[in-house]
Amino acid sequence: MKKYDIIIIGGGAAGFFAAINIAEQNPKLKVAILEKAKEGLQKVKISGGGRCNVTHAEFIPQELILNYPRGEKELLGPFHQFMTGDTIAWFEKRGVELKIEEDGRMFPISNTSQTIIDCFLNEVQKHQVDVFYSQNVTKIEALDPLGFDVLTKNEHYSCEKLVVATGSSVKFWKLIENLGHTISQPVPSLFTFDIQDDRIKDIPGVVAQHVSVAVIGTDLYSEGPLLITHVGMSAPAILKLSAFGAIELAKRNYQFEIQINFINQIFEDCLKSLKDFKQHFAKKTVSKSTQFNLPKRLWHKLVLASAIDVEARWADLNKNQLEAFTSQLTEAVFQVNGKSTFKEEFVTAGGVELKEVNFKTFESKLFPNMYFAGEILNIDAVTGGFNFQNAWTGGYIVAKSILL
Ligand SMILES: Cc1cc2nc3c(=O)[nH]c(=O)nc-3n(C[C@H](O)[C@H](O)[C@H](O)COP(=O)(O)OP(=O)(O)OC[C@H]3O[C@@H](n4cnc5c(N)ncnc54)[C@H](O)[C@@H]3O)c2cc1C
Repeated sequence: MKKYDIIIIGGGAAGFFAAINIAEQNPKLKVAILEKAKEGLQKVKISGGGRCNVTHAEFIPQELILNYPRGEKELLGPFHQFMTGDTIAWFEKRGVELKIEEDGRMFPISNTSQTIIDCFLNEVQKHQVDVFYSQNVTKIEALDPLGFDVLTKNEHYSCEKLVVATGSSVKFWKLIENLGHTISQPVPSLFTFDIQDDRIKDIPGVVAQHVSVAVIGTDLYSEGPLLITHVGMSAPAILKLSAFGAIELAKRNYQFEIQINFINQIFEDCLKSLKDFKQHFAKKTVSKSTQFNLPKRLWHKLVLASAIDVEARWADLNKNQLEAFTSQLTEAVFQVNGKSTFKEEFVTAGGVELKEVNFKTFESKLFPNMYFAGEILNIDAVTGGFNFQNAWTGGYIVAKSILL
């Protein structure tokens, strides 16, 4: 049997971050990571298109939490202890400089996730953390009065304190559930909408910068850029809905209607503008005189969808056509039939129920000395570096709380 003070199950983002901080802050402790795969940090490797979007340049906790459909309330306190600024400083102290991109996402200046992996591997070596690969943990036993037995297929470990950082592993959620914790039903989050519709056919790559989208029959609503893809719609306006509506949209089996306002103006204002255009641009062809900063190809499609002839001039438009066009611009309804993965980045909503965890320490309320960090918890975020920030914050606070 291998005996450790602390065992971390899961050699991913949260597991490595917790292990390094534990070992650094408590050099006398014997710390080990048990990882199921032959290598650790596999999601870090492929993250952010191989560049690893480490965090997001949002430095106000109250603003940062708004990016977490699940975990918003619980993360406010933890973010006051460790958030984006601390992440930047943590990596900088270890020779990894991060840069901010225009949209706020932060990456290593090397532009490769290998930099983050190398940093972690150096740190575990420096602080003498034992990392055991190909160790699929299949059983945990809480010992009386203290400690845990941890079993893999071929080894038996024991420890005083246990950190569970197995990400969104369904098998491990089952194991934790069998111990007595409640697991909220896992459903996918962060996906794009599949839509087949003539209005977006053959115009992939077109972006409308400021749209608002509502899911009809719900209070789900979002604003932001919208991208037309080969199979439907993507970009922040859609991804935010997929994250905040993860549970609701799963219940509907990803069959629902959305209403899009492409120009962020109310119907009446838009109609008034179109009437003005009719006067001012009377002789111009409607389909060719794009307004409201809309992409030309989308404008053209919406003109046709309003039963306006491709050659029609503004002066030709009757009341019904003006109203139909206004409707297409401000309240266009699209049927969603299914979902697709967003850039291979998938996140799972679901996990250990947050009310069963003490967020001052990330310790289980059911099992003293058992801690959770990362995606194993029912916490997930929109895209942009927020999911890793949750892993870093959890890992750091676990480390601070573990003082033997
Ligand atoms: C393609 C892709 C790209 C992404 N890009 C980004 C990004 O750029 N920025 C961002 O913020 N988020 C991104 N995410 C989300 C992010 O990767 C996760 O939120 C994050 O990795 C969660 O960290 P974690 O440590 O909780 O889980 P993981 O990183 O998944 O680590 C869990 C580890 O536990 C191990 N494990 C599971 N079961 C067992 C067991 N029984 N015994 C032992 N070990 C076990 C797993 O093998 C794994 O190594 C991306 C996700 C994907 C899929």
